[in-house]
Amino acid sequence: MLVCRSCGATYETGPEEPWRCRACEHAVDFAERPRATGDPTAVDPTAGLWAFSEFLPVAADDAVSLGEGWTPLVSASEWDAEFKLDYVCPSGSYKDRGAAVLMTRAAALGVDRVVEDSSGNAGAAVAQYAARAGIDAEIYVPADAPAAKLDAMEAAGATTVPVAGGRRAVTEACVSEAVGSDAWYASHAWSPSFYAGTATVAYEIAAQRGWRAPDAVVVPVGHGTLLLGAYRGFRALAAGGWIESMPRLLGVQAAGVEPVAAAVNGSASDEDAVNEAADGIQIRSPARLDQVVAAVAATDGDVVACDESATTDALASLHEAGLYVEPTSAVAVAGLAAYRARGVVGDSDDVVVALTGSGLKKP
Ligand SMILES: [Zn+2]
Repeated sequence: MLVCRSCGATYETGPEEPWRCRACEHAVDFAERPRATGDPTAVDPTAGLWAFSEFLPVAADDAVSLGEGWTPLVSASEWDAEFKLDYVCPSGSYKDRGAAVLMTRAAALGVDRVVEDSSGNAGAAVAQYAARAGIDAEIYVPADAPAAKLDAMEAAGATTVPVAGGRRAVTEACVSEAVGSDAWYASHAWSPSFYAGTATVAYEIAAQRGWRAPDAVVVPVGHGTLLLGAYRGFRALAAGGWIESMPRLLGVQAAGVEPVAAAVNGSASDEDAVNEAADGIQIRSPARLDQVVAAVAATDGDVVACDESATTDALASLHEAGLYVEPTSAVAVAGLAAYRARGVVGDSDDVVVALTGSGLKKP
């Protein structure tokens, strides 16, 4: 069963299920929330993210998998933090967590053609998992999307559809195709399956830390797929008593494109600021804005925006430390510095920062 948590409408799951609420156009979610049960010490790291299949809305036996998950959690003493290296996922970004679960569900529903809109990483992930599943994929992309990300999609056999006019126009073109054809909208921003997948980052962080949640987790925020997934994951662990406390969720956006920071802090976006380096999070209308804001509030978290020079400085430091990430990942590290400067993160806090995308796709 799917439910709209805005108006309460419910929908049977199946090939005809809506990708958003038919009554009010809010995002839909699975009615049943995952909750940790059983013995956490029985979790098997060799199964990747499928070690946490009890939390997933799909069967591990039918997994569309490229071996994703259980990425390294490494000490980053220069930053007095731990880094979760999600850029080593099969397609080079954390989006594989969501894409694996999303395409497993698509395959289970008998879908043979999907459409998705993406600035790059989500499109590459969906294209590669669609290839793995034998499903046709059409990815709507900004006309100026990085060539290396387009190559990753096309090499996997996906059709790319460049759309001019900004990220919002890309989504509108894709939605129009999803509504007007028999294609299944494999949306990383809307699909609840995708968030069930990104929630696995929380299970892994907790497991890798001996079932002790950190004090704070810092992530880049565009649509907020990682932040909201992490929230749902930590919530499921806390509900089952696998962890004793929830980490504060600290989001970082690109200056000038900061709707979540504005909503959380009751401030206006700085319309003059530009951070084009962070190409992966240029989202002005997050699909689940209300839920992301609520997740931040529920953990006493926060969201800040970082400018381009802070991002490129952080990127250089990461590269010099051997961490070859893309600029969008560096906003999280720039954000950590901002949080420390503001006193939001203290010296005694255990902090995990997610490094979300590989530098190999963004020369
Ligand atoms: Zn609704």
